Amino acid sequence: MEKKKFKFGLGGWIFVAMILGILVGLACMGEAAAAFTTKYIKPFGTIYVNLLKFMVVPVVLFSIIDGVISLGDIKKVGSIGWKTMVYYLLTTAIAVCIGLAVAILFKNGGLFPQLATTDLAYEAKSSNIMDVLVDIFPSNWLAPLVNANMLQTIVIALFFGAAILMTGDKGGKVGDLFNAIYAVVMQIMMIIINITPIGVFCLMVNVVAVNGAKIIGALGMAILAAYIGYLIHVVVVYGISVKVFAKMSPMAFFKGMAPAMITAFTTTSSAATLPLTIECSKKLGADDEISSFVLPLGCTINMDGTAIYMGITSVFIAFCYGVDLTMAQMATIVVTATLASIGTAGVSGAGMIMLAMVLQSVGLPVEGIALIAGVDKLFDMGRTCLNVTGDGTCALAVTQWQKKLAK
Ligand code: ASP
Repeated sequence: MEKKKFKFGLGGWIFVAMILGILVGLACMGEAAAAFTTKYIKPFGTIYVNLLKFMVVPVVLFSIIDGVISLGDIKKVGSIGWKTMVYYLLTTAIAVCIGLAVAILFKNGGLFPQLATTDLAYEAKSSNIMDVLVDIFPSNWLAPLVNANMLQTIVIALFFGAAILMTGDKGGKVGDLFNAIYAVVMQIMMIIINITPIGVFCLMVNVVAVNGAKIIGALGMAILAAYIGYLIHVVVVYGISVKVFAKMSPMAFFKGMAPAMITAFTTTSSAATLPLTIECSKKLGADDEISSFVLPLGCTINMDGTAIYMGITSVFIAFCYGVDLTMAQMATIVVTATLASIGTAGVSGAGMIMLAMVLQSVGLPVEGIALIAGVDKLFDMGRTCLNVTGDGTCALAVTQWQKKLAK
């Protein structure tokens, strides 16, 4: 019998790096050893975190411009376009709220142990909701990019994308250029994602050396919270959507969607799963033309699982750093996580990079990503599975809506 070849991918290496980091960290728990890790090991982790930050603005800017351009002619896509967008945005915003709610329940129930260390104490920015609203709109072209102001960067991207579509042939040339730049930016991102094991190891050693073993149990809780959030979203949001909009039994839907869901779970890439998502949705009755518009768009911009993950992990990271999030900060998280999930590419680990943007938007330290990076693959499996399922529900719902319109 032929032995199955076991492929040890990046996810495996990140996991190994985390375990090694924990072991070395546990071995370095004395005061002098912990100080050594802070001085000589953590800086390499800091380099990795800096590279993540370095990518946030270009990834958001170019992926959103590219996403808007991929809508094609705004008029042509007309009625399908706006329904799809409203559906995607609404389900994603609900997803962030579910994520936040579950995480807050976990936090208030004492299930997220707080790290008692001053080293991690961080001062959060406080702002009220009107300031947040005014702050969304830039008064300068370059400042938002230079200062990594994410909401303003997104507004710039939306203006560019829309204007490119509206400028006709000349705009198309600029669109092609942005499309090419986006491909290059994605390539840089892949390089950085590939050095994640090193970054995770260095950061984990220091986190465990300084905080002790407490962090390990906390991580298990964060993963549990995420999967509870995923489950609620699947049952409530997708269940209702399939039943009410697509007029189909949820069980039949999930059964038909299973091949795509399993592929997403194992590949952790919506983009790689796209052919299966299209196949499954069509078999379930989604219209051909609608599927070929809604699903590729969805695998680029609709990430409900990623949104839940962002809600959960922001509360988790804030708590670890001793920060109590205000209502205004949570509202900001809902807006930025919805937009960040739009900007998340459908590839493995992309959501974690975009999490940097959500953390930055409420003044939480991007370094917090190190706490969860080692187990990100476990979060990613579930979130990618939701991401593609959500696309399928949308294709079926829009198919029904268009049918009604044609009657
Ligand atoms: N892996 C996810 C996807 O492909 C994106 C993410 O990392 O959140 O849908």
